Amino acid sequence: MAKRIALVAHDARKDIIVEWAKANAEALSGFSICATGTTGGRLQKDAGLTVDRLLSGPLGGDAQLGAMIAEGRLDALFFFIDPLSALPHDVDVKSLLRLAILYDTPLAINKATADAVLGHLVRG
Ligand code: PGA
Repeated sequence: MAKRIALVAHDARKDIIVEWAKANAEALSGFSICATGTTGGRLQKDAGLTVDRLLSGPLGGDAQLGAMIAEGRLDALFFFIDPLSALPHDVDVKSLLRLAILYDTPLAINKATADAVLGHLVRG
């Protein structure tokens, strides 16, 4: 069964994750991909990815991903966090990061680490 990964990007980072996904489309095609709502929409429309869309992050999507991690249903999290803005759902972001750390989930937070984590997953 394909490993399940999640792709999430805050608004100011969505163009970056779309470009990254386009550049890595072949490698990503081997995974089952889920994404928070708005990120998932951009990845479908602009990168041609097939994704399971969760709720939008601020409306519970981050919490859904946290639950997936706690239940052992997520193999890696690609979370392109905006480092320059205050976010209304900061507590959800912190919770998701805390669970990823707690459960030792491979976690990428920018393009450089996304390349590293994806390479690690592809090599198996
Ligand atoms: P979004 O959520 O993909 O629905 O914009 C991302 C987030 O803010 O966690």
